[in-house]
Amino acid sequence: MKHGIILLGPPGSGKGTQAELIIKELNIPPISTGNILRHTLEQKTALAQELKGYIEKGKLVPDELIDRIVAERLVHKDCKSGFLLDGFPRDLVQAKFVNTIIEVTHVIDLKVPDKFIIQRLAIRKRADDKPEVIKNRLNVYHRLTEPLIKYYKRQGILHEVDGVGTVKDIHRRIMKELKVDLRSPKKEYGFRFLYPLRNC
Ligand code: AMP
Repeated sequence: MKHGIILLGPPGSGKGTQAELIIKELNIPPISTGNILRHTLEQKTALAQELKGYIEKGKLVPDELIDRIVAERLVHKDCKSGFLLDGFPRDLVQAKFVNTIIEVTHVIDLKVPDKFIIQRLAIRKRADDKPEVIKNRLNVYHRLTEPLIKYYKRQGILHEVDGVGTVKDIHRRIMKELKVDLRSPKKEYGFRFLYPLRNC
């Protein structure tokens, strides 16, 4: 089974920024459902129209659809040695689906209080960063995504990381949880470093 790392955290917690740094360090592809969906929105299709209705209101896109998008992405060759899931899973239905297709080895939970989120998102210029949509996205996060923290804690794979601070500091904290030593030459690492005893 393929191995994956999950990056959890509320909207605006800096998941995208941290994902970029993690994938460079580990040499694995990012799978951001938000980015995939935004890309799909740019096309003038019936699917794009349907998706717009959810995304612009800050609601979750139906599980069946998102599960299919992710499953199709994971069969690509670049995912062979692992990947980083950013923004997926978002609820328990998706988390249970994930368990049927991959082995989740680490879940990084970026912890950022709501008051910081609201300040950060207020300066971003995305269509779904309007105040009323932000409120809805945060509600959705607390109601549907936050239960995943307990779910992964029970599985013993949750790593909680303080998401307040500089980008560099937060990156260091994440790498510490993944047990990647940033002082060593990067090339020797890559995803295999996380699984030295496995043939991934
Ligand atoms: P993000 O960029 O991850 O904040 O996602 C932006 C929006 O895309 C969300 O508010 C949802 O409408 C939708 N979305 C992204 N990922 C998912 C997912 N895993 N399940 C359902 N909807 C999602």
